[in-house]
Amino acid sequence: MFIGHYGPAVWDAHRANGVRLWHGFLAVQAIDIVTMVLGILGIEGRTPPDTHPLAFDIPYSHSLVGSLLISLAAALLYRAFRPGAGRKGMVVIGLLAFSHWVLDLVVHRPDMPIWPGGDMLLGLGLWNFAWPAYGLEVLLLGGMIAWWLGVTKGPLWTAVASWALVTFMSVMQFFIMTKPTLDYQQSGILPPPPDGVGLSVAGLVVFFVFAGVIALIERGRTVKAA
Ligand SMILES: [Zn+2]
Repeated sequence: MFIGHYGPAVWDAHRANGVRLWHGFLAVQAIDIVTMVLGILGIEGRTPPDTHPLAFDIPYSHSLVGSLLISLAAALLYRAFRPGAGRKGMVVIGLLAFSHWVLDLVVHRPDMPIWPGGDMLLGLGLWNFAWPAYGLEVLLLGGMIAWWLGVTKGPLWTAVASWALVTFMSVMQFFIMTKPTLDYQQSGILPPPPDGVGLSVAGLVVFFVFAGVIALIERGRTVKAA
């Protein structure tokens, strides 16, 4: 999953002292951020997918055990850097980080082991159904933004910018995930394997740009009084 991961990010952002939406944006992608770092280090993504354009070599970051450890680390980091968020903030960040694994379980083809190197690979494979998968991801992101705009208030530009971001991300989703799947299913030809390091760097940049853009928008909005 890509943009759909952001759906849960809004969980605590409607409270005046809740976990900020942009913190949620980073938390829900913590597992993929680790994937990108491991890709740059050459530890993951070494075996190019040979069965499907969306089959990944992610034995550490996306194993159940690895994901739990990353979520725990994200929670502890948040506790260290935002002690004011308290124990609840720490728990929210940890669960947001782990939501990544749960949502990936739905869409990934079986490429997620229980532990690194484990034989049993998990993944329900919704990505095989390109359009329903696309609809789910856009709905999770768009629904989240719609809800967030409803529980916060701010000038018109913040709403316009929010929907522009949703549109941009949905277009990205189509070209990165949906179109390669449709092309493969039609032609049976796998696209050439991407440059793993380049893709990892690009992924990192994208995650931090999304978080930065939503942080700017978030500065323009305040939580509505209950
Ligand atoms: Zn992932």
